[in-house]
Amino acid sequence: MNVPDNIEAHKPPKVIISCMDRRLNEYLDGYKGPHDAVLRNAGANVKGLKSSIEKLMAEGYKVFEIAAHTDCGAMKYAKAALEGSIIPSDAEKEFLISQFNGKDPASLERINASVQFDEFKRMLDNKGISNVMLTSRTIDLDKIHFDRSDNQPHFLSIIMGTSPVRYLQLQLDMSAGSASSYFIQAERIAEVLPDIGIAVGALHLSDVRLIESKPVNKESLREAEKILASESIFTSGKAALTVVTLNGRKLHS
Ligand SMILES: [Zn+2]
Repeated sequence: MNVPDNIEAHKPPKVIISCMDRRLNEYLDGYKGPHDAVLRNAGANVKGLKSSIEKLMAEGYKVFEIAAHTDCGAMKYAKAALEGSIIPSDAEKEFLISQFNGKDPASLERINASVQFDEFKRMLDNKGISNVMLTSRTIDLDKIHFDRSDNQPHFLSIIMGTSPVRYLQLQLDMSAGSASSYFIQAERIAEVLPDIGIAVGALHLSDVRLIESKPVNKESLREAEKILASESIFTSGKAALTVVTLNGRKLHS
């Protein structure tokens, strides 16, 4: 899908890179435009999303916005890893934790937006790209609306593809009660395996849904399903995987 021309001449479509945290769903629903693309992983982590970012740049997106947030579980996880109280996997080390080596573990939440900005900027410089507009910020959870009464077990949804999705509606369609979902969104499953590992291992989300989204790319969905099914978190029974269509209908589990 290419960036549409002439639709919002003064407001070009943007790519929002944000965290998988469920508390951002309502905010992102209201914030993203119909032609924006969204990428979400553990901690709005640019380093883990490079092939998605490259694909979106090749499609013509020129505005990228990194939106980290306060009280981020991924930053707490990175802090625990830096302090030695947990042992991250090699992939987690490579794609998330290593960016914060030498930083004050207590500062990660405050500095994450700028660490991600610098990582993205380095990627642009290495490729000699100068026509991309890049911003980064930290969303203050105290200042946005989300359902604070929600204390049902949460689940994890993985969306293959960057099209904007109505998170709250999708969450409602998939949930028997009012449970809310973390959302991971990227072009390729391989990019977000460390994030899925953190969601299951550190946030204890054992109910994982792989979403067949529009435009449907059956091939990448089947590939994602195959790769996920062989991941140890699923073969060990730590988490269960279900494939669902966008309207919440269960395909199989
Ligand atoms: Zn987060």
